[in-house]
Amino acid sequence: MIRLERVSKTYEETRAEALREVSFRMKAGEFVLLTGESGSGKTTLLKLLLREILPEQGRILVNGRCLHEMGQKQIPYYRRTVGMIWQDCKLIEDRTVYDNVLLARRIAGSGRVDAQRQVGCVMAALGLERLFRRYPAELSGGEKQKVCLARALVNHPRILLADEPTGRLDSESSDEVTGLLAQMNKRGMTILMAAHETYRAVPCAHRVIRLEKGRIVSDSETTEYGAG
Ligand code: ADP
Ligand code: MG
Repeated sequence: MIRLERVSKTYEETRAEALREVSFRMKAGEFVLLTGESGSGKTTLLKLLLREILPEQGRILVNGRCLHEMGQKQIPYYRRTVGMIWQDCKLIEDRTVYDNVLLARRIAGSGRVDAQRQVGCVMAALGLERLFRRYPAELSGGEKQKVCLARALVNHPRILLADEPTGRLDSESSDEVTGLLAQMNKRGMTILMAAHETYRAVPCAHRVIRLEKGRIVSDSETTEYGAG
């Protein structure tokens, strides 16, 4: 489902080699935790998978499609198949929770009635109906992150990328968010989650890949991953 072949990425501005010959594969339905110290390349890897940036070397395939060969027009369509949540999740401050999630579905081309139905479904699935009318400023950190998750899920992505989604949360909210991710994964969603602190996130992941200075130094399932 996801395949990286000797992917290297250097940022021109700083000459920082963020990733070096990274190779691995992920199967559909896997929940992989991407770990490593700050600066080890986790966010860069997720941005590559979202097709926000391109590598200088190597190939990235998602669902059999090579991200480099994708035309500009196809990128927005591709991104709809990939949900993303960030550590500092950004919601539109002057819109309610409901509108924030609705807008994500509308932007993806859904009609109003369908969008309303989808928002209702996703919010119910995450247990967030009581937050419908609130504004982002009226939410706790954990609630915000769950709304961001709802926003990512409203378009039914097959893959969810999460960049330290629990990094700023207290342990209780952190467990709630990882619990929701585990639930999504049980229903078949493929998840790649970057986490600086693995301790709390590990129970729901099938596999842990560790990056150090842009290289994979361990892969808990098999070290043979990416060898060929
Ligand atoms: P992590 O998410 O694990 O903290 P990053 O992928 O953000 O790691 O960063 C990997 C390396 O790339 C770091 O050395 C960082 O300074 C550098 N880097 C990240 N983003 C940029 C950027 N936009 N421009 C220049 N250098 C960057
Ligand atoms: Mg990061």
